[in-house]
Amino acid sequence: MTQAPRKAAGLRSITASLTPRDLDRPAPLAKVWQAQIITLFPQAFPGVLGLSLTGKALAERRWELRSIDLRPFGVGKHRNVDDTPAGGGAGMVLRADVLGAAIDAALADAPAGRADWPLVYLSPRGRPFTQATARKWAQGRGVTLICGRFEGIDQRVIDHYAIEEVSLGDFVLTGGEIAAQAMLDATVRLLPDVLGNAASTEEESFAAGLLEHPQYTRPAQWQGHAIPPVLLSGNHAGIERWRLDQAQALTKARRPDLWAAWQAGQGKPED
Ligand code: SAH
Repeated sequence: MTQAPRKAAGLRSITASLTPRDLDRPAPLAKVWQAQIITLFPQAFPGVLGLSLTGKALAERRWELRSIDLRPFGVGKHRNVDDTPAGGGAGMVLRADVLGAAIDAALADAPAGRADWPLVYLSPRGRPFTQATARKWAQGRGVTLICGRFEGIDQRVIDHYAIEEVSLGDFVLTGGEIAAQAMLDATVRLLPDVLGNAASTEEESFAAGLLEHPQYTRPAQWQGHAIPPVLLSGNHAGIERWRLDQAQALTKARRPDLWAAWQAGQGKPED
């Protein structure tokens, strides 16, 4: 038997029907950081964002998630949202008029300009999402994410609304929902009060331009492997030095691009 998911306090949905449902919309939320997600699969949300620290923060309304179901904006008896590509070819494309109406509904509810509230289409053609993107979004008041499906969305929508395209990486997903959750997870954990221990976001990978040092915990001996003795030495300066050495070695070996940027930032010539 499946159980209906518990509805978190921060979780809302917008539908196209202007029914009394709208009465249970919260008052315009000026203060809480909000993600709006335009998707054909609102049931995919909050997904993993409903778990652990992001889920707890959602339940406590430290951030808000509003999914906007694309289906009710569809046309005709069957609420069609897609059609065949102009010029021919495989697959289907999300219709401009349908998506446009959903975007209008989202923007009408977004209480900030684009600088503080980016309008983003998740797309493999987009600028790669990075920690810097997460930081920028977390500093704003919210974000509207458009999840594509099939072959993607009508280009006129991207042009008309000057939508930013952002990619999760150089691979093709079936839809934007997983990308949206990944990007929101990275963003929401940077909001004040979402992670218990704020210091952990300052020291981790990418925060200082380096990959993170290895981590260890109990037991001190496991399968014949010991924790590096310096970590148990109580020598804080020694531990810091060891961690920085490890972070540098890892970054140099695995990510020459990050290593070169980090060295340039330190004013050191590349070696
Ligand atoms: N035909 C498109 C791919 C469509 S995949 C192309 O070749 O560019 C279907 C949807 O999945 C896209 O509209 C997009 O919203 C989402 N998607 C796929 N890969 C993605 C990625 N790497 N990053 C973000 N979104 C992605």
